[in-house]
Amino acid sequence: MKSRDWYVKQIKRKPVQITRYVVQTVFLLFLLYVGVRFYQFYMHFETLGESPFVERPAAVEGFLPISALMGLKIWLGTGEFDIIHPAGLVLFSFFVGSAFFFRRTFCSWICPIGTAGEWIGRLGKKLFKRNFEAPTWLTWLLTPIKYLLLLFFIGMVILMPTYSAIEFINTPYNKISDIKMLLFFLHISGFGLGFVVLMFGLSLFYKNFWCCFLCPYGALIGLGAIFRITKVRRNEETCMNCEMCTKVCPSRIKVHKAAAVTNLNCTGCLACVEACPVKDTLTMTVANKKVNKWFIPVAFFVLFFIVVGFAKLTGHWETIIHYEEWKQLITEANNIQ
Ligand code: SF4
Ligand code: SF4
Repeated sequence: MKSRDWYVKQIKRKPVQITRYVVQTVFLLFLLYVGVRFYQFYMHFETLGESPFVERPAAVEGFLPISALMGLKIWLGTGEFDIIHPAGLVLFSFFVGSAFFFRRTFCSWICPIGTAGEWIGRLGKKLFKRNFEAPTWLTWLLTPIKYLLLLFFIGMVILMPTYSAIEFINTPYNKISDIKMLLFFLHISGFGLGFVVLMFGLSLFYKNFWCCFLCPYGALIGLGAIFRITKVRRNEETCMNCEMCTKVCPSRIKVHKAAAVTNLNCTGCLACVEACPVKDTLTMTVANKKVNKWFIPVAFFVLFFIVVGFAKLTGHWETIIHYEEWKQLITEANNIQ
């Protein structure tokens, strides 16, 4: 058991990281709550009204990136905003758009898979006293996978004519894609369960395995950093090459060798900035201007809540699918392909 002084010291030494852990925990708990409420919503219809009705939490649409990608295509092409999964489109557009300024802040502060991968990686470090490194040839082999997956999904959506995308958005399958996702986990097959366990299990040895090699969502958000607007810079004159920055980097970036971190995997988590023992040697910059280390996370969350609040106030958050339609869709869910 760590002493109170130890905790106070940690908070003083790395306040952004401690805040990040707290925010990660809050979002994880919030998403668990969303999951439970969504299950209760489903059960109301599944039991033909025997269990009480619970409002469907719109935030569940954040787990429907393909539908959101289709919605984005239609929105950009026709100006029509998705009324089937509007919250999904709002969240997806914000997370992808925000990446130009905030890099993958979504990955390091909000994403539950990123949080789980990071925590499991920390557990692995405790168990094995280290996080393992993949040999360079394996890293080269695995790294393209997430970009190939991304290319596949983006290519599919771009090549699809807009009228087909509109048709898809209005299909019963898309309308209940969140229910389908729930059913997948409720009746998960041996293969599906094995895959999930394997992905999380690999993070025990290789921190954030899924995020590093397989996540197309993270790869898409990472592309926002191509313009290099926001980056961590290293002052080569004051750096004493202690490598603390590289040791704490969850994305395994060789920060101690870079003049500026331009790697697309950088999540802007600021762990390196807070770990550096030499004052002002590692700094976060926006358009090459040094900013306070709180600037990126605070600006990200202020904008996030403004966007979500605006979407709610202007009717771009709740689906138009009404009670009777849900009743019909969920009753027929197993037959909808
Ligand atoms: S380079 Fe720094 S800010 Fe980027 S992911 Fe690594 S530790 Fe986080
Ligand atoms: S932690 Fe700071 S001093 Fe140490 S290598 Fe990284 S930038 Fe240089």
